[in-house]
Amino acid sequence: MLFFIILLALILGSFIGAYTYRVPRKISVAKGRSMCPFCKAQISWYDNIPVISYLLLKGRCRNCKKPISVRYPAIELASAVLFSVFYLQYPLIEKNIVWLSDVPYSLSLVFVLFLAFVLLVIFIIDWEQQIILDSSVFWPLLVSFVLLLLFSENHVYLHLFAGLGSALFLLLINLITRGRGMGLGDVKLALFLGTVAGIWGSLVYMFWAFITGAAVGIVLLLFKKKKMKSQIAFGPFLIIGFIIFMFTSSFLSRFFVTF
Ligand SMILES: [Zn+2]
Repeated sequence: MLFFIILLALILGSFIGAYTYRVPRKISVAKGRSMCPFCKAQISWYDNIPVISYLLLKGRCRNCKKPISVRYPAIELASAVLFSVFYLQYPLIEKNIVWLSDVPYSLSLVFVLFLAFVLLVIFIIDWEQQIILDSSVFWPLLVSFVLLLLFSENHVYLHLFAGLGSALFLLLINLITRGRGMGLGDVKLALFLGTVAGIWGSLVYMFWAFITGAAVGIVLLLFKKKKMKSQIAFGPFLIIGFIIFMFTSSFLSRFFVTF
């Protein structure tokens, strides 16, 4: 089963690499096969096998020998790691996203793998382009809401409230900083993440998002990589915070109850 999950993750990772490159640039995903950006040669299927082809070709185009961007094998590997961890640690995730235990097991597992896919897509596009596409937040939000409504009726209203709370909190920061600290994309992303996480979960993932965001911001400032005014996308930190929440929330709640 794990082998199958990794295979799926590599294929999806390959798709994510192309999707996250094409969609923000308004290039159709369906249109045309992958081609080398330098010599425009079409890439045949045997040169398009996730990770393996990159290694066999030693990272160079078969036709013109120009280097292939390392982002493709990197995204494929990230996808494989994320899917494997989410699959293997599913019981731990269920402990932290409590309402998942109300959803039938196989459906809930598919939802968790869907989360891995969605989080990776949003992370990459926001990291590279500083935008969060409406569609990449809307569909996951709808799916989460429907699952909550169908299987976990006693959670659904509190979770919607948490989603709205998360979003309003970031909107407030957006208004105070006049859009310099927080984009509206982050507000939409928080609506989705907060709805999945619930109230306690939202406190946890927001906390980690600000901690990791501040830490990276300080490091970049020290190395003068980014000027104070220049924007660092916040979405990736919301996602990192959310992933930390997925694995630590129940531990933290026990910790706080003890004190
Ligand atoms: Zn080429």
